[in-house]
Amino acid sequence: MIFIITSLLRGSRVNTLSRVISVKCISQPHHCTEIIHVMESFRMIVNESIRLGLEHNVTSKFMLQSLIYHRFSKEIYSAYVITAVFKASEILKRYRKAKRKNPDTKKPFMRKKMLVVDNQRYRITHSRLRLPVSPRQFVYIPLNHHVCEVLSRPGLKLGSITLNENKLCIPYSRGILRKDPCGYLGIDMNLENATCFDEHGNTTVVDMSHIVYTKMKYREVLSHFNRNDSRIQGKLKRKYGQKQKNRQDTYLHQRSKKITSSGRQIIMEKLSGIQKKYRRGNGQGPKLRFRLNSWARFKLQSMIDYKSIEANGFGVKFVQPHGTSARCAKCGKRLIPEERRKMWCISCRHIVDRDINASMNILARGLEMLGVMSARFEPDAVQGEAVKQFKDAEQIAPSLLARNNPSS
Ligand SMILES: [Zn+2]
Repeated sequence: MIFIITSLLRGSRVNTLSRVISVKCISQPHHCTEIIHVMESFRMIVNESIRLGLEHNVTSKFMLQSLIYHRFSKEIYSAYVITAVFKASEILKRYRKAKRKNPDTKKPFMRKKMLVVDNQRYRITHSRLRLPVSPRQFVYIPLNHHVCEVLSRPGLKLGSITLNENKLCIPYSRGILRKDPCGYLGIDMNLENATCFDEHGNTTVVDMSHIVYTKMKYREVLSHFNRNDSRIQGKLKRKYGQKQKNRQDTYLHQRSKKITSSGRQIIMEKLSGIQKKYRRGNGQGPKLRFRLNSWARFKLQSMIDYKSIEANGFGVKFVQPHGTSARCAKCGKRLIPEERRKMWCISCRHIVDRDINASMNILARGLEMLGVMSARFEPDAVQGEAVKQFKDAEQIAPSLLARNNPSS
C-alpha cells in the first residue's frame, strides 16, 4: 500500500515561533471543615440566582448580579456572591441550550456543596492555600508535595479554584511553543482498538480490548452483590465503579501518551452523536449496547488532544466521520462487507481491512482539510517510493491531480 502526494506543502511549516495556551487542572483531597458553611451559603446563592434568572428571564450575568448582589453581600464574603452569580449564569446557559433541544428538561438545581474562588482572592504561600472566609479572616489548607511542585514551575498562570467537601481543584495555563509536525497520523476509533495510519503507509493498532474486558468483569462482579438496602447497593456500585474507572484511566493515559510521543499531527473523526446510536430503544439488546458503549472514546480523544498540545504545541484536528468506513480509500466507491471486518471493493477488485480503510480515509480527509496535500492511496504504485514529490506525482496520476486541484 503506497501513498502518493499529489500536491505538496502549501505553506504549512511557517509558524514555528507562535505560542499556544495549554490549560490543565491539578486536584488534591482536603479535610478543611471551617469552609463548609461558606460552601452551603454559596450553594444557596447559586440556587437563588437560578430561580430569579428563570423568573425574570435574565440572560446577562451582570443583570443577574444587580438582582442578587445587595441581598447577599452582607451574609457572605461579597467576592463569593459574584462567583456564585457567574456559576448560576453558566448553569442557566446550559439549561437554555438543553431546553432548546428537549422542552421537557428539568429546571436546574445545585445539590452538592461547592465553592468557586476567583484567582484574585486566594494566595499560595509556604505550601499552604489561603482562602478568605470573611473580610480579613482566612482559612489555610495544606497542599501536598506534588501540587506544590507542579505549581512552582515558571510561567504558570493560575485560574479560579473549585472546592467541594473533600476535594479542591486548581486550574493553570501556560504558553507552549508550537513545533512543526514531523508527520501525519489518521486514527480510527473502534470497539476494541484504535487503528493508526501514517503518511508513509504504516499501520499501528492500539489495543483497547483490555478496557472492554475489565468493564465486563466489573459488571459481572457487581451482578453478584444483591443487597436489600438500596443505600448499600449504591455504595458498592460507587466503590467498584471508581475502581474500574481508575483502571480505565491509567490504561488510556498510557495509550494516549504512546500515540502522541511520535510528534505527528493527529487527525481523528468527530464522535458527536455516537451515544445516540447505541441507546435504549434503538433495537439493540442490553449486552450489545453495553459492549458498544464500553469504553470512553471521548476521554481518549481529549487526552490525546491535551497531551499533543503539551508535547508539541498543536492539538488534534477533527474531520467529519461520514462514510469513512463505508467508502474505498483508493477510488471512493462504496465497499461491500465481507466476513471478519473485511471489505470488498468492486472497482479496485481487492479486499481491505475495514479499520485500516477508515483510518486511511480519515488521514486523507485531514490532509485535505489542513491544505497540506491532497492524498489518494494507489494500489499499483511502485514499492519503496513511498512519498513522491510533486513532479513525480504529476506524471503518475495526472487525472487524480486534476480532480484534486481543479484550478491548476
Ligand atoms: Zn476502490
